[in-house]
Amino acid sequence: MSTQDLAGTTALVMGASAGIGAAVAEALAARGAAIGLVARRRKPIEALAARLRAGGAQAVPLVCDVADHAAVAATVQAAVDHFGRLDHLINNAGVIQPIGRLHETDPAQWAQAVQINLTGVFNACHAALPHLLARGGTIVNVSSGAAHRPLEGWSAYCSSKAGVAMLTRALMLEYGAEGLRVYGFAPGTVRTAMQVAIRASGINPVSRLDPESLIPAAAPAQIIAWLCTPDAADFPSGEHSIRDAALRARAALQMEFAD
Ligand code: NAP
Repeated sequence: MSTQDLAGTTALVMGASAGIGAAVAEALAARGAAIGLVARRRKPIEALAARLRAGGAQAVPLVCDVADHAAVAATVQAAVDHFGRLDHLINNAGVIQPIGRLHETDPAQWAQAVQINLTGVFNACHAALPHLLARGGTIVNVSSGAAHRPLEGWSAYCSSKAGVAMLTRALMLEYGAEGLRVYGFAPGTVRTAMQVAIRASGINPVSRLDPESLIPAAAPAQIIAWLCTPDAADFPSGEHSIRDAALRARAALQMEFAD
């Protein structure tokens, strides 16, 4: 078996119904992993599971809201019951709303964004860690440039992503010595429904980006899938970005960025 291969391993992709998560599921399946596809919307994950299975992969749709700890715990258990093991956790589920200046923001919607983007990552890690640690295990937390710099109108998003970046470091500190690899990975500006919502808001420079400049979800997905492979075992845990040319080279992603 090649060190690029994931045959015999199982991955759980949170937020697999669309965008980057769906592309990550495809990329993991292409390397031979069995996939648990997690999202709130049933139809798209059922359709993706059927497509992956038709291509020879093992895939199961698991409807779940990552904000609900009990539901996440049951989902992780269902994946382990189905596949017999869990090796990789991709914390990709996320929301951009509420978009707007802080004083105009609905407090309940702000709290809900943190509950999904940050507590959702905790929920999945909390439930998955006992299984991941039995195997060495990999966690990829989908990060963002917004984890490290504020953008107008995105206080919930930036705050929750900053929290995830710290959670990545806390996980490394607590479990790195046990063989767990934990990556935060910023995927760039990617052509997904999230960017459509951002563009419609018109509130900050990201909303005014040329749509032609957005990159396909398959690009970050290729790197995320590679991070799960044995080939990446020497790649340091921590926060990384698709803008890192050395990472793109290691993951064999042929794509150039202006900066
Ligand atoms: P997207 O197309 O809107 O997809 C978001 C995914 O998250 C969907 O599968 C959605 O599924 C799932 N999700 C949202 N809330 C959920 C919940 N409570 N429980 C379970 N699943 C949930 O967005 P995307 O652009 O692919 O974003 C994926 C990740 O990349 C996010 O973490 C985002 O912050 C990050 N990111 C994106 C960009 C970009 O330019 N697109 C840049 C930096 C970082 P359901 O609606 O079916 O639940």
